[in-house]
Amino acid sequence: MIEAPASVTELSLIRQLKFCAGHRLYQHESKCAFFHGHNYRVDIEVMGRNGGTEVDSVGRIVDFSKIKERMLGWLDENWDHAFLLFKEDANALAAIQMVQPTKYFVMPSNPTAENMARYLLEVVAPLVLDDLGVVARRVIVWETDESCAVASLIGEPVDLGRAILSAVRVDHR
Ligand SMILES: [Zn+2]
Repeated sequence: MIEAPASVTELSLIRQLKFCAGHRLYQHESKCAFFHGHNYRVDIEVMGRNGGTEVDSVGRIVDFSKIKERMLGWLDENWDHAFLLFKEDANALAAIQMVQPTKYFVMPSNPTAENMARYLLEVVAPLVLDDLGVVARRVIVWETDESCAVASLIGEPVDLGRAILSAVRVDHR
């Protein structure tokens, strides 16, 4: 008799989220150094904290609406209709502070799709999803219809949550 192989199935969910934001890439050698914006799309993939095929009594890892509520809630508040700027980009920060009203978000790294995906995976997702019993495994940031960057969790989820030091600045002078 042939023994059935151990289950290799693992379940995850993907939720799409959309927002609009401006940015510029500090020290970019070409046109991305100018102030401009994108209609961003984020695909976030989540799995149960213990992985595998664990679902609730209804058969869900987590309800899709919870992912939307938490992640889009954070995006709306922090990045939507804001300018994302690198903390070392003093010139752009000075400029955005002159606009009234203004909304900007200071990034620890240049606001490329790669760094944005990483920030959402490592900082934001652990912060807003933690009590739902799920972890984000992958975040894809689509900057255009053709171009995206992917940040993936390698190996076991670790405690990635880091404090966001009120990085969003909304100034309604
Ligand atoms: Zn851009």
